[in-house]
Amino acid sequence: MAQEIARLVARVLQDGQRLGHLDLEASEMALRAAMHQLGGRVLEQLLNADGGGYRGARIPCGHGHHAEFVDHRRKQVLTVLAPVAVQRAYYHCAPCAGGVVPKDQELDIVGTAFSPGVRRMLGRVGGQEAFAAGRRDLAELAGVRVTTKAVERVAEALGAQVEAVASAERTAALTGKVITLKAVPRVYIAIDGTGVPMVPHETDGRQGKEEAGKAKTREAKLGCVFTQTSVDEQGRPVRDEDSSTYVGAIEPAEAFGRRIYAEAVRRGIPRAAQVIVLGDGAPWIWGIAEEHFPGAIQIVDLYHAREHLADLSKLVYGPGSAASKRWTTARRKELDAGDVERVVAAMGRLRPRGAEVQKAVRRGRGYFETNAKRMRYARFRSQGLFVGSGVVEAACKTVVGFRLKQSGMRWTVRGANAIIALRCADLSGRWEEFWEARSAG
Ligand SMILES: [Zn+2]
Repeated sequence: MAQEIARLVARVLQDGQRLGHLDLEASEMALRAAMHQLGGRVLEQLLNADGGGYRGARIPCGHGHHAEFVDHRRKQVLTVLAPVAVQRAYYHCAPCAGGVVPKDQELDIVGTAFSPGVRRMLGRVGGQEAFAAGRRDLAELAGVRVTTKAVERVAEALGAQVEAVASAERTAALTGKVITLKAVPRVYIAIDGTGVPMVPHETDGRQGKEEAGKAKTREAKLGCVFTQTSVDEQGRPVRDEDSSTYVGAIEPAEAFGRRIYAEAVRRGIPRAAQVIVLGDGAPWIWGIAEEHFPGAIQIVDLYHAREHLADLSKLVYGPGSAASKRWTTARRKELDAGDVERVVAAMGRLRPRGAEVQKAVRRGRGYFETNAKRMRYARFRSQGLFVGSGVVEAACKTVVGFRLKQSGMRWTVRGANAIIALRCADLSGRWEEFWEARSAG
């Protein structure tokens, strides 16, 4: 080993002399590659020091039978250092008609040619960026070379594991097995939905939202839980630092209700003085609020309410017109004051031409009438509460938009949910926890 390092150093020095100067970049890259190779060889020796992990002629297969020893088999495993060959005792279970390799279980390489360290990297980049970009970053930053498909497969498999852990947590929370340790004054639950572009077969038979025809997206439902302990000098609420955690999935409202409820329990609602649900106007959100968070203060995120006003005004007066601006400004003031009745009355005074616009105005009025009690912004503010304005929107962008809605991306529900699970774990600061739980198990 020492000899090899000496040879390598000599070669780098030679290259430098030949060039007349030291090419630092070329040298560091050459040395990194060489160190990886050396490290790989050390690791390989370490992994094969047991001679293959022979456990006797017969071992339990794990399904109630015995598996017979067949032979030792080599497997190529890509590690963060280099590819290594691992010698493993291979057993066969006749009733299961399958192989059993206890050493693979021990090393956490069952059914995969990637080491846990590499899989962790693949999950990391796959959750952060497009799979092809992740592959490039891995090669550039870590000197680990894999295919784009490998990034996708491994990241999605890890996402599925994260979801399995989350599912077990949900069961615990829903059966009252989670003990909340910390009392928090205020817990906010922000909920929203956002469209994820789908491969064609995932939207078969689903009506499109906008134009007539088939839907091209499926709605991912997202929840962000954060806490608030204090207000600033002006009495404005201050979000507790690093207190945001996220959950999300493409799933029916009922399933999502359990998901967000379990997260809220984990975050301390059983001991919270006040629970606030923030959402846009979507009825399914308030359905979840009624079912899982009875007694919570319900607030329509101000950002969404304002958006409704702006959209309507554009439709009635034409985009960018002075009349549109005047109308929006006046309504926004009323809205900020929580005077929803005046907003609704002003809508009632609109006399738009055209059946479509009239319909939109009626819909707008309905939205504000239905949600009036969730829009008492002045009162909410005087209580030092967040009224939103982008909290919910930002969660959607952070979890879904930035990663899943880049141009040209098309997802399966399974793939999208896996990546959403990965991102939620990461953005909630639980990535490390997930890995620790894995190695403990
Ligand atoms: Zn068996």
